[in-house]
Formats: sequence, C-alpha cells, structure tokens
Amino acid sequence: MNIGILGGGQLGWMTILEGRKFGFNFFVLDENPHAPASKVADGWFPPEKVEEFSELCDVITYEFEHIEDSVIENLKGQVLPSLDVLKIKKNRGSEKNFLLKAGYPVPKFEVCKLENLEECVRKVGLPAVVKAEKLGYDGKGQYRVSSLNDLKSISKNHPEGESFVVEEMVHFRAEISAVGVRDKKGRIGVFPVTQNVHEEGILLYNWTPKEEEVPNDVVSVVSDLMEDLSVVGLLAVEFFLTEEGKILINEFAPRPHNTGHYTLDGAYTSQFENLTRAITGLPLGSTRLKAPSGMVNILGLSLEDIDVEDILSVEGAKLYWYGKEKRERRKMGHVNVVAEDHETLKLNLQEVLRIIYQRDASTFSPRGIYYK
Ligand code: AMP
Repeated sequence: MNIGILGGGQLGWMTILEGRKFGFNFFVLDENPHAPASKVADGWFPPEKVEEFSELCDVITYEFEHIEDSVIENLKGQVLPSLDVLKIKKNRGSEKNFLLKAGYPVPKFEVCKLENLEECVRKVGLPAVVKAEKLGYDGKGQYRVSSLNDLKSISKNHPEGESFVVEEMVHFRAEISAVGVRDKKGRIGVFPVTQNVHEEGILLYNWTPKEEEVPNDVVSVVSDLMEDLSVVGLLAVEFFLTEEGKILINEFAPRPHNTGHYTLDGAYTSQFENLTRAITGLPLGSTRLKAPSGMVNILGLSLEDIDVEDILSVEGAKLYWYGKEKRERRKMGHVNVVAEDHETLKLNLQEVLRIIYQRDASTFSPRGIYYK
C-alpha cells in the first residue's frame, strides 16, 4: 500500500519510521526535498506535482494543517482524517465555533476583523489573548493584551481586513492534552494524558502525570470529539485546567502531536504507528502507558550546541534529531524520557532540561514540574 503524507516535517518523519515496519511505502509532498520526512520517504513530490502524488497514493494523510488550497483541490485519493475536519481546523474561528456549537467547554471568545479588535476585546474583557485566525501556530500571530493600548502594535503588524480570535486570558493551573486515535470502524483509543509546559507559546517539555491527577472528563471529551468530527486517524486535544478544576479546550489538531512524542518510548504503541494502523485498516494498537514518561523539546539548538553524550547518559533518555537547519526557537529534535516511577521521571527530566539549556528546570515554569 502507498501512503501519502502532506508535509515533510518531523511528524511525517516519525510516521514514516514507525509505519514502514508494516511494509507500506511512504510518499511525501513538500516543497523541500531535504525536509525530515522528504529525506526518508520512498518518494518526494513538490507541490506542483500534486496530481502525480495523489494518483500514486492509496491513502493520504497530513502532518500540518496549513495546506494550500491548490494542493487540496487536486487530491484525488482518500484523505484521512477527512478534508472536512481539516477545513474546520484550518481556521481558528471555525474551530472555536464548531466546539462551542457542539457544546464543548471553551474559553470565552469573539471572532472579528482587525478594524473591530477594540470592540471585541471590550466584549471579552481584559486581559485577553488575540490570535490571528489563520496560519497561527506555536504562538505565532498571537498577542497578550492587558490594555487597549496594546492593540496598536497588532494593527501595525497585520493588514486591514485580517481576522482574529479574541479569547479571555485563562488563568490555568496547568495545560494538559491527550491524543486519541479512531479507526475506520469507529473504534477508539486515547493515549495517556500529558501535562505540558509552554514557553513563549511553544511546548518546552511534558510528562504523564499520575492517573489520580488527571481530570476524569478528558478521555470522554477526546472520544466524543473524534466521533463528532468522524476522525479516522489521530486527534490531539489541548486543554487548560482552570484554577477551579474545570477543563477548557484550547485547540485540537487532527494529526500527530508534539505532546504525543513520548508515546514512541512510553506507550505500548506510538501515536505514529497508530495513525498508520488507523488509516490503513489495521487493528489499533494498545494506547496504554508502559511506564511514567516525558519529553523535552530541543528548541533553536544545533547538534554541536548540545551535549549528546550527557543526554544519553541519563537513564531512560532517547534522542530524536530531525536534521533541520537551525533557526531561533525552531523544533530541532526532542528527548524522550521513560522512568520506573514519577519521582525518577521528574529528576531525569530536570536533568535533561539542565543539560540542554544549562538552566535550572524550576526557572522554566512558575508552576514547577508537578502541579500538585
Ligand atoms: P495556541 O497556539 O493557541 O496553542 O497557544 C499557545 C500557548 O499560548 C498555549 O499553549 C498557552 O500556553 C497560551 N495561551 C493560548 N491561549 C490562551 C488563553 N486564552 N489564555 C491563556 N493562555 C493562552
């Protein structure tokens, strides 16, 4: 079977490395032949050759959402998760409205044009978070607004007519997420929840908390959302856990997710393998956790900047290097850590953070490594 992946990034790279063991061929559509997934695929296609790519592939999936309409229009094969899901997700406003209409818990929000930002911010209240409706990820096109004066700098950066989502600033106790998988027959699995620490809008590290620390309703929300969207493949859902203990959905992503990288070493089956199984009609693998696990992203550093020997000397640490060109804050690789218990996991994650960033882990997050 030939599997197509739209996007040549590290998510595609890991999907290929994991999915290849079933004997499938993988083809990547990306403008960069040297992108991580392009380099390991059985074939690489530039976007202009989308028709050829699409003809060759029995099933097509994607590893990012911002796919050009000119590509989407020319896809003939079966795309999973479906293009309907992608359409909802491509736009922050339609994603939030879908969730609200379907009755899922979301922060208070308004969708508006640049010209009406002030009015919207007044409605939502201060402090607020303003997010460009399209093309925003990893904190890009995102602004924290504590006074109406802050809106001036947004107006400078964006053209008139651009749309934004204005959200209340959630004072969360923690950020958590879960990746779910659903197959063609509607069977569902949900990977263990992680607690995630972001810095400047980018995931820095995460780990699987103790089961009793995880709010009960996360798994049912992820499962219900996969059913409502008829997802075949993966769906990652990011939540805020509020001070009152309520969960609010921040966003979802119908693809492998950075917060699920730990599954490569920590779960019975990885998110990437389960994506392959789901879209090819194979039985899903168990999503259970083998042992407490976590992950540290390597941001904006080259292989020469990090001490690989030290990292690999930490018990249970595994390095994944994507082979991309170094850029500031760019996701260059990650380290998974698996440990026999949560105490050891905490110490080993802190050690990996210290080795990579030469900073004490407690300086990364005011909440520290465990929220309890
Ligand atoms: P996003 O691109 O929407 O995933 O946002 C990136 C990060 O910004 C999140 O993981 C949060 O740390 C923070 N953030 C986004 N929206 C809000 C919000 N409404 N309230 C507080 N923090 C937020």
